[in-house]
Amino acid sequence: MNMNKRKSKNKLNGWTWSVTSMLLAMLILSGCGSKSGGSIVEGKVNVITTFYPIYEFTKEIGGDEVNVVNLLPTGVEPHDWTPRSQDIVNTSKAQLFLYNGAGLEGWAPGFLKGLDKDTQVKPVIVSQGIRLIDAVGDDGHGHGEAAHEEEHDHSHEEGAEAHEHSHEEGNGEDHTGHDHEEEAAKTNTDTHHTDPHTWVSPKSALVMAENIKNSLVEVDPEHKDGYEQRYEALKEKLVKLDNDFASELSKLPKKDIVVSHQAFGYLCRDYGLTQHAIMGLSPDAEPRAQDIVNLTKTVKEKEVKYIFFEELVSDKLAKTLANEAGVETLVLNPVEGLTKEQASSGENYFTLMEKNLQNLTKALQ
Ligand code: ZN
Repeated sequence: MNMNKRKSKNKLNGWTWSVTSMLLAMLILSGCGSKSGGSIVEGKVNVITTFYPIYEFTKEIGGDEVNVVNLLPTGVEPHDWTPRSQDIVNTSKAQLFLYNGAGLEGWAPGFLKGLDKDTQVKPVIVSQGIRLIDAVGDDGHGHGEAAHEEEHDHSHEEGAEAHEHSHEEGNGEDHTGHDHEEEAAKTNTDTHHTDPHTWVSPKSALVMAENIKNSLVEVDPEHKDGYEQRYEALKEKLVKLDNDFASELSKLPKKDIVVSHQAFGYLCRDYGLTQHAIMGLSPDAEPRAQDIVNLTKTVKEKEVKYIFFEELVSDKLAKTLANEAGVETLVLNPVEGLTKEQASSGENYFTLMEKNLQNLTKALQ
């Protein structure tokens, strides 16, 4: 790294180190195991879901006809989670296996191959039909990509900028030829080229609910009328949520949100906002010094008043950036799961999304 650049980043170095050690601590903590909940019930349509929003929608549409087993335990964040042998046993006995797809459950193909040979389970990708987002191309600050600037010696800031931009406009395969010491740390973001966070947009959630309904009708046509009825009720709530997001957000003067984990791509696309993420698609992807420089710049330029964080992941990064930039923090929930408190107080997709809308409205005034 040349001296000019080092000088301009002096203020940042201590910060970056503290962020790095904090991320390591988070990685170690997230290694703790948790058991999945629920078991197969004879005489019902058994449906295995991978994580919370699919679980909630399936329960609502399925009603008394179905027994839904959610693989991801309460209070656990889905990106790092992998299934246990009991999950293979349960899924082998079930009629339906509903998973998000779009790269969320990287373990799914191997898991499906590992099921009993005589299993009748029908696997369904619930995000099918949604126009998926290529996260590298659509993400303005290019998480991961900006790392090149730190790792190579460029003699001018200008040169580094041009280098970075050419990567962003490329097809995202630019890491492969390089031999970086940090290559291992990036594996996580490199495997996540598709943004998996479809459910965070009510518009996409509508598509997901319909896919769930169709799959239930297909495996249990006898109870079609019930599924259709309960689906219509769920659809009505989702349409109202979609209308609320569209009408409230279109009135607000600001359109830029700064978030900790890059989970709001579909929400932003569908309601005309722009997301700037501290971390990548998976919440433990590490931020780069250059990302933080760019974000602090964005906060000033766009007059951002709040940095958003989420409950299932440490808020320290968001708080540190907010302190650095002299702004406050607010919750924006990617609804990837409930905390134990949220589960026991009856929170659900709709209550959490309504809070999201309130906080977005507050932040974008
Ligand atoms: Zn996520």
